Amino acid sequence: MTPTPIPFNKPYLHGRELVYIAQAVASGKISGDGVFTQKCHRFFEERYGFRKTLMTTSCTDALEMCALLLDVREGDEVIVPSFTFVSSANAFALRGAKIVFADSAADNPNLDVDTLAALITPRTRAIVVVHYAGVACDMDPILALAARHGIVVVEDAAQAIDSFYKGRPLGSLGALAAFSFHETKNVIAGEGGLLALNDMRYADRAEVIREKGTNRSAFFRGDIDKYGWVDIGSSFLPSDIISAYLFAQLENLDAIQARRKALWQRYHDRLAEPLAAIGIGLPSIPAYATNNGHMFYLVCNHLEQRTGLISALRAEGIHAVFHYQSLHESPFFKARHDGRPLPQTTRYADCLVRLPLYYELADVDVDRISDTIVRHLTGP
Ligand SMILES: *Cc1c(COP(=O)(O)O)cnc(C)c1O
Repeated sequence: MTPTPIPFNKPYLHGRELVYIAQAVASGKISGDGVFTQKCHRFFEERYGFRKTLMTTSCTDALEMCALLLDVREGDEVIVPSFTFVSSANAFALRGAKIVFADSAADNPNLDVDTLAALITPRTRAIVVVHYAGVACDMDPILALAARHGIVVVEDAAQAIDSFYKGRPLGSLGALAAFSFHETKNVIAGEGGLLALNDMRYADRAEVIREKGTNRSAFFRGDIDKYGWVDIGSSFLPSDIISAYLFAQLENLDAIQARRKALWQRYHDRLAEPLAAIGIGLPSIPAYATNNGHMFYLVCNHLEQRTGLISALRAEGIHAVFHYQSLHESPFFKARHDGRPLPQTTRYADCLVRLPLYYELADVDVDRISDTIVRHLTGP
């Protein structure tokens, strides 16, 4: 008998998603900034203290808005970790910025704070930090360094909902932050994102950029009596249907987080000892950070070991996947890179493997996956 396949990820309905979508339709307005969009904004502002939030069609779009808000242009440099999703860098490359890639730390894939200072030049405009797996970067030294040089910090918080740095919510630390509600994240809307603004200097212009360069948001609030084209922008605001789906998830955020963290802990309990014995790394959560149950990963000793593990799991119907390929070695960027080796980035690109983790994953699935891993890696 072949065992039931376990996918890497599975989108899910927590409960009231379809009810809220029907309500949005019945309200007579499903374009952007409807009732559910406002509810989502209020949720994030009240729960995490972000000064202002704007739902976007994706985290990618929120990052592109950051690049527009910072007026990033040709000649500017932006520091981005190489071990991240394309959008963290592409949003700034689109504006003509020169991307300067940073290496990851040895003990987790977040950017290596010790080598960051050496990357700063008089042209550096922004540092994009990525809280990998929802685990905080060491923000205090990063923010101090940025402040000293007049550089803006942007948080790519795509994976970092409901996670904290020294008690402060991720997404509240940089001037700007971007979240994702893509179906692979903790809280989902299919595609969707959020721009969080902590520096209110950007607030008015963010509304304009999100509304195709018009001051339509101010018009709908009644602040002005007609609206027009006042700046550059694009269409970054999602339909209220997206926010209706998302809001049903946000209402249940605590239950979702509790379940994900329980699954994460179950993996950890089963794998930590047997894998430590053979030098395989598990996620480590620094004392200043929290775990939001976004991702459970292993760091194999070498590429062949990872390839073997992924195919052994595949043979049992278990879909485990590797993650980012180094952006500094990507087909688009390779010739543009300054040639610095980024050894930790390359190691994570070659050796990191992510295990299935989604709300509806069962405890018995975690046990089966863990047992298969231990058997394959430590067996005779
Ligand atoms: C998922 C992800 C993104 C992209 O999010 P979208 O909402 O799909 O645009 C960007 N950065 C990181 C680190 C991510 O994990």
